[in-house]
Amino acid sequence: MAVIEEYVDIVEPATESVISTIPRAGMAETDAAVAAAKAAYPAWSSVAPGERAGLLRRVSGLIEERGEELALLEARNVGKPISDARGEVGMVIDTFAYYAGAPERLMGQTIPVPGGMNFTFRESMGVVALITPWNFPLAIASWAVAPALAAGNTVVLKPAELTPLTAMQLQQIVLDAGVPEGVFNVVVGPGNVVGERLVEHPDVSKVSFTGSTEVGKRISARASETFKRVTLELGGKSANIVFADADLEKAAEAAPSSVFGNSGQDCCARSRVLVERSAVDRFVELFSQSMQEFRVGDPLDSSTQMGPLITARDRDRVASFLEGATVIARGTAPDGPGFWFAPAIVLPGSNNDRVVREEIFGPIVSIIPFDNEDEAVMIANDTIYGLSGSVWTENGSRALRVARAIEAGTLSVNSNWSVRVNTPYGGFKQSGIGRTLGPNALNYYTELKNVYVATN
Ligand code: NDP
Repeated sequence: MAVIEEYVDIVEPATESVISTIPRAGMAETDAAVAAAKAAYPAWSSVAPGERAGLLRRVSGLIEERGEELALLEARNVGKPISDARGEVGMVIDTFAYYAGAPERLMGQTIPVPGGMNFTFRESMGVVALITPWNFPLAIASWAVAPALAAGNTVVLKPAELTPLTAMQLQQIVLDAGVPEGVFNVVVGPGNVVGERLVEHPDVSKVSFTGSTEVGKRISARASETFKRVTLELGGKSANIVFADADLEKAAEAAPSSVFGNSGQDCCARSRVLVERSAVDRFVELFSQSMQEFRVGDPLDSSTQMGPLITARDRDRVASFLEGATVIARGTAPDGPGFWFAPAIVLPGSNNDRVVREEIFGPIVSIIPFDNEDEAVMIANDTIYGLSGSVWTENGSRALRVARAIEAGTLSVNSNWSVRVNTPYGGFKQSGIGRTLGPNALNYYTELKNVYVATN
């Protein structure tokens, strides 16, 4: 087992300074959190649905009251632009409000059967473990915490050690809202200790994980030993398909935020832009221009659109994708301190290049020409991933045809939007298992029970 340090320094990526030092949990703290969640489960799962709804509404209200404080903390800890952080906090408020509507609507069916009556029920699962990443710490946590609590489960959340500050605040907010102690627990510690323990723990019924495909595979394999339910939201290599008949100005204006947003550290990043050959030159010209206008700098400046990368190691890893690549346009970034990386547009030599095949998790985008619709779909689907994607065209029939043909969970037409609180989100293929958000998410935090009553 790994040696555990007692404290962990939390570093601000834009300045490289330590902004907080917090205790680091290990096995004992993880087991204690699971025990607290297990003890709290019988009472929480029996709370009347209307009361549970009221508590979740109060959580949403308190997040709104402390919104600016949370956004500032997130912007500093992740290095993301404050305007993005404010938007994400807004989504967290909406997520708790949306799932506050769930406890009173968790309904089953009556099914006609001979000799009696048949009912189905959606029942809570018990202790749910949530393991979340560093790129959207509070937002991604809320996507799992809110439906899990709404369905009557108790929760142990393990945030990424790099960015635990807003999750720790959320724990206090949930308590302040009146949710009983033990219902929602946060354990800050390394994934290979705290995360592994949660996945193997016999008292955990379900694991919801967002992060790398590599760790997702390991979690899936280990969770199968105890047949835990698993939801996985993993990596992506999404395609942004631009046909020659599209509104090229609009597509190019939207392209930077779809791949450089959150410094490219976004599983939905459209890191492959497929452009119909006759439009490549014009599109690249427009895209390069909008990239130059994309404001990279101090995350706490409200006009900033892109901050630094999360760590120096990630900056080096991202830079390695440019080795040997043909860079056709490059943006700018501050010199440092901070883990800065200027955005880049590259022209790959072939569709087998590393820059085309691997998730970069940084602000680098490949331009890939195509000659016809079938080829565009073939290239878009030529990946192990299947998370999201976009289609830009003025031809409505083609837009629908292509959107249906892409093997991905979330598609948008003439837009790069992927995530909304009230619509399902998740991946095909190696981008994951299950769906978060929207009404379907509740299916992943409940078990389906069938009861037959003989009346003859
Ligand atoms: P990881 O998948 O390693 O981490 C995500 C979460 O899982 C963190 O809370 C981490 O803990 C935890 N974890 C790590 N190892 C284990 C384990 N063995 N068992 C249980 N939990 C574990 O992502 P990284 O932060 O290392 O990022 C690596 C790459 O993953 C990125 O470059 C990107 O390609 C991809 N990624 C994708 C994300 C997405 O949104 N789909 C989000 C983040 C990363 P801790 O970090 O505290 O040790």
